[in-house]
Amino acid sequence: MTLKPKLYGLIGFPVKHSLSPCMHNAALKALKIKARYKLFELQAEQLEDFLGNLKKNNILGFNVTIPYKEKVLPYVNTKSFGVREIGAVNTVVVTKDGKLKGFNTDFAGFSRHLKELKVNPKKTAIIGAGGAARAVCFALGNSKVEEVCIYDIDVYKSLNLSRQFKDAFDQTKFSAVARIDELNLQDKDLLVNASPVGMHADDPCLIEDKQIHKNIFVYDLIYNPVETRLISQARQRGARFSNGLGMLLYQGALSFEHFTGKKAPVKIMQAALEKGVKKL
Ligand code: NAP
Repeated sequence: MTLKPKLYGLIGFPVKHSLSPCMHNAALKALKIKARYKLFELQAEQLEDFLGNLKKNNILGFNVTIPYKEKVLPYVNTKSFGVREIGAVNTVVVTKDGKLKGFNTDFAGFSRHLKELKVNPKKTAIIGAGGAARAVCFALGNSKVEEVCIYDIDVYKSLNLSRQFKDAFDQTKFSAVARIDELNLQDKDLLVNASPVGMHADDPCLIEDKQIHKNIFVYDLIYNPVETRLISQARQRGARFSNGLGMLLYQGALSFEHFTGKKAPVKIMQAALEKGVKKL
C-alpha cells in the first residue's frame, strides 16, 4: 500500500496565479517537512465534496480565498479570535479526529506588518468595504485606533461595515462617507486601499496628489503590480508607503504556524514571495 503524501493547499476560484504555493513549499522544504502545498481550484459544487474528503486525501490544512472565505464558515467546528466578527475564515486546520479549526490570519497578518513597519495609526481612512476591508477594520479596532473612516463605491457596504464594527469596538469611532474626498485625509495618519482599484494599468487615480501629505502612511493591499499609482503618488509626495506583500507574507507565515505547529521561516517565505511576484 502506498501512503498518500501529506498535503496542504489553497482553495478558491480562480487560484492559478496564487503566490501561496511558492512561499509555503519553500517553508516546508526549509524545515524538512515531508508535505506539499497545492492549489485546489474548486467550482462551487465541488466544495462540499472537498471538505468531506479531507482525511481520505491526507489534507492536513488549507487556506481559503475568494469566493469561499464566508462559505467555509458553517463547516468549521471551532472559530479562533476574529473569525466570527470578520465573518470569514482564511485558514483551516484539520485535526487528527477530522475536526476543522478555523482561523483568520488576514487581520493578524495586517497587524503584524503594520507593527513591523512601526506604523501606529490614530486616525485612518479605508477605501473599499469588502472582505479585505473587514479584516483591516477588525485589526484596527482590535488595536484601539481612535478613528476609522470608510469609503466604498457602494455607500451601503461602507455603512454596514462601520455599523458592525462600531458595536464591536467601543474605543474606535467607525464612520462611513459617501464621497471619497470626505475621507478628509488631511487629518489622517494612515490610508489603506482595500479596493481592487490599482490592479490594472488603466485604473483611475482615486486620490488627488495634494491630499497625500508627509505624515500619512499609504498602505495599498495590492501587491501586483508591486507599485500601484497610489504608491507612486505617495512616493512622489514624500509619504511613507507599503504594498500588500507584507500582509500576504504574514498571513501565510501565521497559517504555516497553525498548520505545522512550527515557527515559520519568515525570511525564506519572503524571498520566495519576492521571487514569485516578479514572475506574475
Ligand atoms: P472585495 O471583497 O471585492 O472588496 C472590494 C471592495 O472595493 C468592494 O466593496 C468594491 O465594490 C469596492 N470598490 C470597487 N471599486 C471601488 C472604487 N472605485 N472606490 C471604492 N470602492 C471600490 O475584494 P477584497 O477581497 O476585499 O480585496 C480587495 C483588494 O485587496 C484586492 O485588490 C485584493 O487583491 C487585495 N487583497 C490583498 C491581500 C493581501 O494579503 N495583501 C489580502 C486580501 C485582499 P463593488 O463590489 O461594488 O465593486
